[in-house]
Amino acid sequence: MAAGSTKPGAKPGQKGGLAHRVKTAPKKSEAKTLKRKRGQEDLGKLQTAVDQLDPKSTDIKNFTDLPLCDATATGLRASHFEVLTDVQRAAIPLALKGNDVLGAAKTGSGKTLAFLVPVLEKLYRARWTEYDGLGALIISPTRELAVQIFDVLRKIGRNHYFSAGLVIGGRSLKEEAERLGRMNILVCTPGRMLQHLDQTAGFDVNNLQILVLDEADRIMDMGFQSAVDALVDHLPRTRQTLLFSATQSKRVSDLARLSLKDPEYVSAHEAAASATPTNLQQSYIVTPLAEKLDTLWGFLRTNLKSKIIVFLSSGKQVRFVFESFKRMQPGISLLHLHGRQKQVARMEITSRFSSAKFACLFATDVVARGVDFPAVDWVVQADCPEDADTYIHRVGRTARYESNGRAVLFLEPSEEQGFLKRLEHKKVPIQKVNVREAKKKSIKNELQSYCFQSADLKYLGQKAFISYTRSIHLQKDKEVFKFSELDLDGFAESLGLAGTPQIKFQKGEDIKRLKNASRAAASSGSESDSDGDGPKRKKDQVRTKYEKMAERQNQDVLSSHYRKLLDDADPAAASDDEADFLSVKRVLVDDAALDAAAGSTSAKATTEPRIVKLGATSELVIDSNRREKLLKSKKKLLKYMDKGSKLVFDDEGNAHPVYELQDEDEFALQGPAGELRRKFVDAEAEKVREADVDDKAHAKERRREKRERQKAREREEMEGMEEEDGEGPQLKDADDGEDPLALLRSLPVAGESVDEEEREPPKKKARKWFEDEESGEEGVSRNKMKKGGKRVIEMAAEPDTLEDLEALAAGLLED
Ligand code: ADP
Ligand code: MG
Repeated sequence: MAAGSTKPGAKPGQKGGLAHRVKTAPKKSEAKTLKRKRGQEDLGKLQTAVDQLDPKSTDIKNFTDLPLCDATATGLRASHFEVLTDVQRAAIPLALKGNDVLGAAKTGSGKTLAFLVPVLEKLYRARWTEYDGLGALIISPTRELAVQIFDVLRKIGRNHYFSAGLVIGGRSLKEEAERLGRMNILVCTPGRMLQHLDQTAGFDVNNLQILVLDEADRIMDMGFQSAVDALVDHLPRTRQTLLFSATQSKRVSDLARLSLKDPEYVSAHEAAASATPTNLQQSYIVTPLAEKLDTLWGFLRTNLKSKIIVFLSSGKQVRFVFESFKRMQPGISLLHLHGRQKQVARMEITSRFSSAKFACLFATDVVARGVDFPAVDWVVQADCPEDADTYIHRVGRTARYESNGRAVLFLEPSEEQGFLKRLEHKKVPIQKVNVREAKKKSIKNELQSYCFQSADLKYLGQKAFISYTRSIHLQKDKEVFKFSELDLDGFAESLGLAGTPQIKFQKGEDIKRLKNASRAAASSGSESDSDGDGPKRKKDQVRTKYEKMAERQNQDVLSSHYRKLLDDADPAAASDDEADFLSVKRVLVDDAALDAAAGSTSAKATTEPRIVKLGATSELVIDSNRREKLLKSKKKLLKYMDKGSKLVFDDEGNAHPVYELQDEDEFALQGPAGELRRKFVDAEAEKVREADVDDKAHAKERRREKRERQKAREREEMEGMEEEDGEGPQLKDADDGEDPLALLRSLPVAGESVDEEEREPPKKKARKWFEDEESGEEGVSRNKMKKGGKRVIEMAAEPDTLEDLEALAAGLLED
């Protein structure tokens, strides 16, 4: 089925412009027309090949067997992708033909390419240019995964001219907003994207051609429900939609929410004996909660020459285990990752772990899904996952594509039976193993001494204890998680704590709801913080004596951070203070109270409060020396005096106040006040709504016109340049003399407002732009720092804001 796949050396057909005008010498224009024709022919051929493609054909084995444009084909080849994986073979042809696709395939089976290739092709065949705005939107549940998808897109899309961006939060909305307008492809997390759709003026998604949800079941589940529904509301209904996950939901309600049209269900491994990769070896260990850390320590000590991910249930668990094991120096480098870390730190840690040969990463479920760390030997689930799907995704971090991997799950005796049943139901083959007694070592005493030495560590231990027990308590699946059967005292002791923290849970807490609440509360960036840190402290919640102790003792940076978290979590207390503050002031107005107060607080020795008349109507209470002094200055008194009121005169020359009150009886006749008010509000709201619709339509029309104009201008420009420049895609290497950031500069940088009308259309070559967040930073273009002649990171001469520094750091780390 090689028909239509473009021959090497063929010109990309993208330049077949619609708005064609003869501008230069006839000879030139002839050449142009010829070339355009050829481009159109290529595009036509490609389209025919796609139309004729049989999606069920068994002949499709390699990427070269697919009707792909030259740019995609060469991009894939250069990235060393040749043979299609099962899911790619099943899904790409259907997606190329414009179908909505629901794709399910095991972890590590190549789902990313299964949607990225159709995305590139769709936009290419639609002759998408930057002036067409957003053409494709790819949604990922976590930032880590979004970054990774973006990297793959950049790799295989290197020969395309599209602009692509990453919208994952972690920096200011404004900075991101400035670069959104011209993006063709965006990879995003749902909450952040929604923020832009709601708040970024001029960001138009009405042209969207294709929507992709990676890890779709996660995005469609409760945690993201409202964000995704609102987001989809913004998108046009006529679009292609692709959903991918290793654990796909076929729920009709989900499909309806996305308004899929006759979706094709592609399940590459439905008939497979197991839901997990065949080259993955899975086992479990039964270890009582009180010995879990001992077992984990023993495991690490016997696997020093490995790359390991250890999944824990919350960010607090992660921090404690990381900090305490670090002190004990296991002999393997330790890293930790959870949702509450700063974005830059998260990126640095993921890239360090990716490139490490031997290392152990303690992580929450932020990296449970989709993230493709190369060559992971072991996935350890020290805390039992909340359900079998999470289990499948976690173990999927190893044994990716064709490599091998091993996974081990720690189960508390009370969890064993219940969870094994869940796994069996999901077709997960797992076998029991025992820890060798000789390798067991209790680290309780060491931890205790570290906790004794360091108040910070002790505090983390307490938090870890609380967050773990709480997470067990809140788990939905009571057949697996049995709170009452846990040995809490033993657990506290095993963390090195001198006593068991007292805990008290409120009834009716629901883990999903709480997780979502904290997600919503922590604004934009934290949507991927699925680390189960749970809710912030409730006001009436019992504080343990350990917490109080820690608040008192830990006077350094770490504890102040925690205290801040606690403080933030208690807005009620703040508002109480405020109420007190206000009521004190108000008491003074009441004369009787004043007298009483004066009588009882004579000890205060202030002047006795009295009331002074100012002008005709105003009065001033004199209750302090400061007020007494006021009386001496007429100028200062002006502030307290009646300013007079504005009057309007009617035709007869009678004065009326500007807002005249209606006669009360007359008003009462019109109906109940509440109803009248509602009517009035409704009427006004209706007016506003109407005006808004008009305004929006008007603005949209203007934007469209502007775009058309720019597009036309750009085409002219392009046609002019083609003659001089030759053609073909320009690689972004710095050594071909091309400035990869040319387009970037044509965009307004912060603080500098460029009218869209005045903006020069970017030059042709610059239209190829795969930029990520970091290199699209504010303060671009002054000093150039060349690294190895390849990458150019541009920054303001002196990075002066924290964001600048972060961006620079992230940029450097990326290499
Ligand atoms: P999934 O999303 O299904 O978990 P990914 O798309 O992350 O899997 O791919 C897993 C790994 O397989 C990646 O490292 C990717 O580079 C590799 N891969 C994907 N498709 C191919 C292919 N056709 N040929 C070779 N390697 C591939
Ligand atoms: Mg994936």
